[in-house]
Amino acid sequence: MDLFQKESQYLMQTYARFPVIFEKGNGCVLEDVDHKLYLDLTSGIGVNCLGHNHPAIVQTISKQASELMHVSNLYYTKPMIDCAEKLVKASQMKNVFFANSGAEANEGMIKIARKYSFEKYGKNRNKILTLKNSFHGRTMATLSATGQDKFHHYFYPFVDGFDFVECNKIEDLKKKLDDSVCGIFMELIQGESGVLPLNYDFVKEVETICHEKDILLMIDEVQTGIGRTGTLFAFEQYDIKPDLVSLAKGLGAGIPIGAILANEKCQNVFQKGDHGSTFGGNPLSCAIANTVLDIVNQPDFLQDVKEKGNYFIDQIQSISSKEIKEVRGMGLMIGVVVDQNKRSTLIQELMKQGILVLSAGVDVIRLLPPLILSYEQIDEVISIMKGVFQ
Ligand code: PLP
Repeated sequence: MDLFQKESQYLMQTYARFPVIFEKGNGCVLEDVDHKLYLDLTSGIGVNCLGHNHPAIVQTISKQASELMHVSNLYYTKPMIDCAEKLVKASQMKNVFFANSGAEANEGMIKIARKYSFEKYGKNRNKILTLKNSFHGRTMATLSATGQDKFHHYFYPFVDGFDFVECNKIEDLKKKLDDSVCGIFMELIQGESGVLPLNYDFVKEVETICHEKDILLMIDEVQTGIGRTGTLFAFEQYDIKPDLVSLAKGLGAGIPIGAILANEKCQNVFQKGDHGSTFGGNPLSCAIANTVLDIVNQPDFLQDVKEKGNYFIDQIQSISSKEIKEVRGMGLMIGVVVDQNKRSTLIQELMKQGILVLSAGVDVIRLLPPLILSYEQIDEVISIMKGVFQ
């Protein structure tokens, strides 16, 4: 039996996989079992921010694995505490809770918002506004928070207490802002639904409303965080101070980790016993996150991501092709809008020619390359894209 047959026999069929089996990775390049090479513009959906098998990550894993991988949260470990310190200092937040994934971080963030409000205002102030077309995860609460109808089937009952606001429509937000609202929860660039950056003015107005009404500003940086947009956090580019921020994906560069950052208002909401996670904060994932932060959180590295992102967007825009309707994004989070009916063919053709890309929304080809992508590799992608799009 070949691997494709075995996969369909032994795995729940929740993913539409491309028919390729990867065996090795090096930098931005992946190699399949037939030794065909691909330039990876997906980073495992925004995870491999330092590419594949980055020497510093490999070294950290092997050192930490040989020392200590897991002891539970009954005890202290240095990598966990160092990682919390680095995240707090970099974000100017106050403290951290470690989880294992984006959904788990968001789930914890929802719990903090509700407890904060419960303690100050009683139990009826518990609604969280999220945005239409958002994506926040696959657990019951994060699915309920996700503003897309297609995720709201089968799994009844969903978690109550969410309402959905049109992106960039402050009037719609004000209409839905009743006395029961305790938090406003959003991605600053909606990733899964099509690489849609929110308007700066909208975000600033939401921040003002949150501050005036003591509503928590909750930012999902699972996809946009850890340098993806050219700053360590996307919220820096919107000049806002969130109350809560969630992280995952790039923070572990390939190893599962999630985190919730809380500001002064929220830092003491969770008390002993209120929340927990067996694997959360384990020394292996935190040691890796420390290495990731040491590399990514450097002004030169982040500036380079910003400049490469601008160059990449300019180069795609300069391809003269009727297939490309729009190019948008920030840093190395890029969306290329194409004809909805041709997208799948374009993605497959790029793959045939050795370029791996993602889809998003209904008509977007999404690029989330490793942040270490070189200018030469961007030029190589552009020359292949020219052939495919023209
Ligand atoms: N939030 C955002 C913005 C995401 O893009 C994702 C995943 O794509 C999630 C949350 C869920 O993260 P995870 O798959 O790690 O649970």
